[in-house]
Amino acid sequence: MAKEIQAYNNILELIGNTPLIKLNKVTEEFEGNFYAKVEAFNPGHSSKDRIALYIIEEAERKGILKPGDTIIETTSGNTGFSLAMVSIIKGYDCILAVSSKSSKDKIDMLRTMGAKVYVCPAHVSADDERSYYNVAKRLHEETKGSVYINQYFNDLNIDAHYNTTGPEIWEQTGGQITHLVACSGTGGTISGTAKFLKEMNPNIKILGVDAYGSVLKKYHETKEFDNEEIYPYRIEGLGKNLIPTATDFDVIDKFMKVTDEESAHTAREIAKKEGIFAGYTSGAALQAVKQFAEEGEFDANSKVVIIFPDHGSRYMSKIYSDDWMSEQGFFDSVNNEETQKIEI
Ligand code: PMP
Repeated sequence: MAKEIQAYNNILELIGNTPLIKLNKVTEEFEGNFYAKVEAFNPGHSSKDRIALYIIEEAERKGILKPGDTIIETTSGNTGFSLAMVSIIKGYDCILAVSSKSSKDKIDMLRTMGAKVYVCPAHVSADDERSYYNVAKRLHEETKGSVYINQYFNDLNIDAHYNTTGPEIWEQTGGQITHLVACSGTGGTISGTAKFLKEMNPNIKILGVDAYGSVLKKYHETKEFDNEEIYPYRIEGLGKNLIPTATDFDVIDKFMKVTDEESAHTAREIAKKEGIFAGYTSGAALQAVKQFAEEGEFDANSKVVIIFPDHGSRYMSKIYSDDWMSEQGFFDSVNNEETQKIEI
């Protein structure tokens, strides 16, 4: 008798169930045990596959979406890629309104994945009718049978992680996890995962990662929106200049801020020492772990899970380019072998 063909029915069946990988070198000087939840193993190479699939399937369950309908969002980043991928398999049109600041590579990638990309001027304010927020809103109003994902203000973003990332980590650690460290952008990952884990064990500490230039940490501490906290920074996907409703600040115990420069070096260190080629915010998350460790947050019994949100390939022209690192001045203060280019 012929053996059965072992194949997935389509790429979406590979979303979720990402591996937990022990970190062996980058944390060796710290007390505790450290594990990375490597979201680059999702087929779209980031944690955003989870919310794209979850939000679209919720809309299907509620009868809001039918084949041929349209998915709309405002992002050139990971969420855009994931939505385009899910749309292809499920037969939806995908429209992405992106800022003219987005790189050509990103826009080409989204178009390759079948998305219609509207490039909107970056220099206008959010309430200008040409801004990508307003273009997306208008397209949603004008397009019958469309769903606006609106990830910063959509509770389903939290639910996606409550139902997938949280249970996976609980299962993978056999319930032994003591700390979760996760970056906060929309806040969906940290809020949903934390909500599930705290229901399992309220003693688990939830440590958020924020960027210098973002308002989240200060808001968490004071409940006040402080404009002084906001200034430009380079890390994409981490921190925010507004307060997303997809962040549940009550389940987060503490935030740690990290710099662009240290996060970039730490991301490169993850590749060099662990062989894990992860994105910029993975470097930010590990950088926060180092800073928490220096403050004495962990002890020998700690089992710390760190979320690595995406894959390094999306940052080739940034943190993984020596030229870019030099242009930012990120090599100025370090004197290691990275700065010594070998002439051939
Ligand atoms: N890292 C990267 C690379 C991201 O794109 C995002 C999402 N904006 C995050 C981290 C943060 O995840 P979340 O939006 O769930 O807070």
